[in-house]
Amino acid sequence: MATPENIKNSQRRSLRKKPFSLPSQLLLLYLEEAIDSQEMELRRESMTTAWRNCGVCKKEISLGRTYQKCSISTCRKNVFCSVDCWSIHDSVMGHKSAYAEEETAPSRVENSSNDKPRRRIVVSGKSPSPSNSELPEDVLIVVSKLKNYVKAKSSMNTSGDVSEELSKYVRLLVNQAIDNAREEGRKTVMAKDFKNLSL
Ligand SMILES: [Zn+2]
Ligand SMILES: [Zn+2]
Repeated sequence: MATPENIKNSQRRSLRKKPFSLPSQLLLLYLEEAIDSQEMELRRESMTTAWRNCGVCKKEISLGRTYQKCSISTCRKNVFCSVDCWSIHDSVMGHKSAYAEEETAPSRVENSSNDKPRRRIVVSGKSPSPSNSELPEDVLIVVSKLKNYVKAKSSMNTSGDVSEELSKYVRLLVNQAIDNAREEGRKTVMAKDFKNLSL
């Protein structure tokens, strides 16, 4: 029977018959990825809760769940289950100054018009805005305290846009902490969830 699993296994078996030199091993990796995405398409049609698979650990990302996207435009088609997985992608790709953007998977499979994933309209010359428009984009930094600190540390002034920029970093760290808390089945983000985070 041509289930996705069978297709995948037979394709992989036939790929593995010959010994590989390094470039063909790379090619094999790409092929496996292609097979995975083909499998994903097949699954998408048949399953109701799975949406896509993480580009790194291949874990399923369910419909309606939050996921991470790479800020680099050529990586837009990849999705990542967590900031950790995106970080692996980031170091593998060797991006300079990339960041993960949190998005929400559509709440059901695509044919209902209400729940289509929001399309982002790219206005040239503008930096990409964080795309999940339901998330508050407030400044998370106490501006006066920040200014005091910079003044005390360096006797420099702090321009008004710094707190906004810093808030983006806070959100990135908090997103990872949320993932950590979720992984442990907690409903409370705790200080320990911030250990060993990376930007
Ligand atoms: Zn993952
Ligand atoms: Zn990327």
